[in-house]
Amino acid sequence: MKSIYDMTYNDLEKYFLEKNEKKYKAKQIYDWLYKKKVETFDAMSNLKKDLITTLNQDFSFNQLNLIDQKDGKDVTKFLFKLEDNQVIEAVLMFHDYGNSLCVSSQVGCNMNCSFCESGRRKKVRNLQTHEMVLQILTIEKIKKLRISHVVLMGIGEPFDNYENVVNFLKIINNDNGLAIGARHITVSTCGIIPKIKEFMQLPFQINLAISLHAPTDELRSKLMPINKAYPLKELIPVLKEYINKTNRRITFEYILLKDINDTEEMANKLSQLLKGINCYVNLIPYNETSHIMYKKSKKQTILKFYDILKKNKINVTIRKEFGGEVMAACGQLRSKYEEG
Ligand code: SAH
Repeated sequence: MKSIYDMTYNDLEKYFLEKNEKKYKAKQIYDWLYKKKVETFDAMSNLKKDLITTLNQDFSFNQLNLIDQKDGKDVTKFLFKLEDNQVIEAVLMFHDYGNSLCVSSQVGCNMNCSFCESGRRKKVRNLQTHEMVLQILTIEKIKKLRISHVVLMGIGEPFDNYENVVNFLKIINNDNGLAIGARHITVSTCGIIPKIKEFMQLPFQINLAISLHAPTDELRSKLMPINKAYPLKELIPVLKEYINKTNRRITFEYILLKDINDTEEMANKLSQLLKGINCYVNLIPYNETSHIMYKKSKKQTILKFYDILKKNKINVTIRKEFGGEVMAACGQLRSKYEEG
């Protein structure tokens, strides 16, 4: 049975029209689900009894099962069990501008990036739309707060689960739903070109982040196998097209790995690659994990790298480090839970 949290606003309008009901019923349902946050149809007191019966027959109200929660200084990490006993994680970060949730899009990931804990564990399945929506609703309920920003940077490759992810974005962005502003939502991808092309046709102003991590095809293919299928020499022109079409700036994420991609030479190559592109670069201090040999770059190396980009007039920031103390970094908690 479909979950009610799988339904976009348009899906619900269509559903009601097919049932010979007025389409404004969609607004009523969204109001109950996402503003008043009730968890049964029976609690929706402005609906007629027989409509409630029909809804109960057609939709389920599944919930996520919280199995662990770790609180850090400015971060809380959640582990959830799904109905088929798979485990996913979500990370809540407290920023001065609001509460940001890092949402997972798959159980495991098939992209196999060499530095990534999540990628070490094979993809088991895609998350359904409701399993992403419920990460937000459940955490808002547990922590009694509003999530103002969402980043799809948890476990999984969002564009390898494109349809469910797009429905998720529609639901959380809808004014009648959670009404999280498009500019407050970021989708991060390792660079699946056909999906980037589809994504740029959509009418919303959601931020796109690209996990770049290397300025040359040679190095990027070593770090990220996806680069063999979609190399930089094809990706960069598509991103330029994206920027022209959407008038939006792209974010490039660049993890700094000691002696691998953090040298002056790499900083200069990166500057050349991004010259003239409307973007900004987020330098990410690497979160070391016990299974992977890469090391975090030294502070002065990071600052030097930053300076070179700045000198080349590239917009650049160094990402604040979150969650190391609660193993919130990138799939670590799930691994620890399952592997001990
Ligand atoms: N698959 C998507 C989203 C998930 S990864 C993508 O590739 O963008 C989210 C970000 O975290 C990516 O930029 C990823 O490269 C980065 N990341 C993965 N492991 C990390 C680690 N150990 N330390 C710091 N960042 C990491």
